[in-house]
Amino acid sequence: MIIINVKTIFEPLHKTIVKDIKCPNCQAKDHVEIVVYQKHTDTGWIYKVTKILTGTAYCLNCNTDIPNVKWTPEIESAFEKLKTESPVQKSYIKLSFLFKLLLCFLAIMAVVIAYFIYSLSNEGKIKQKILQTPTVNNKLLISHAVREDYTKTNDLGNSWAVIKKIDGDTIIIQFSTQKVPLEQLNDSEPPKTSYDGKIYKIKKEAFQNEEKITEYHQEKGMGLNYAYIWKYKEE
Ligand SMILES: [Zn+2]
Repeated sequence: MIIINVKTIFEPLHKTIVKDIKCPNCQAKDHVEIVVYQKHTDTGWIYKVTKILTGTAYCLNCNTDIPNVKWTPEIESAFEKLKTESPVQKSYIKLSFLFKLLLCFLAIMAVVIAYFIYSLSNEGKIKQKILQTPTVNNKLLISHAVREDYTKTNDLGNSWAVIKKIDGDTIIIQFSTQKVPLEQLNDSEPPKTSYDGKIYKIKKEAFQNEEKITEYHQEKGMGLNYAYIWKYKEE
């Protein structure tokens, strides 16, 4: 919770004993002192010098305040004149260091969120494009396992694969021999070379409609047992 405590400061600008003015309390002349103040406010976050000028009148003869409601037209006009003669500070706003820091932080957060949203939607667009029109050289980051014989499944982890060729209903992909550790899946970029791993023929239909890599049955039921696509890259 942020507690805002607005502090008002009346900064004296000008102080004068005005000649020929009667005190409404004691009727003495030449003893009324008028002070012109400029109002400042401070919330702790924002310091503001306002344009607002106020005044007080005090009688030095009877030592009493002359409240605004008791001001005579002479006092009023003397105050108006003194206002024009006062060294009025230009109105300005100063932000505290913490407040500036908070604004910077919010600005950075906004940029990060905007970038995050942008990259998500951009990734989504690339994915849709590749699914709709798979093209040679598109790259896919895939977790996969292969069946080496009837009893043994070998988990090959995560690696990038490239679309080598499209042949009618068949997409031919080849895996990179470089592995991508699990914790790097999110930031992983496809390698430029090293696509000299295993080659698989996959069904275009399953790829496009189910985002799945389903290999054509090869002899003896060997081949890809499982594959999940993490990322789609266009190059
Ligand atoms: Zn007086």
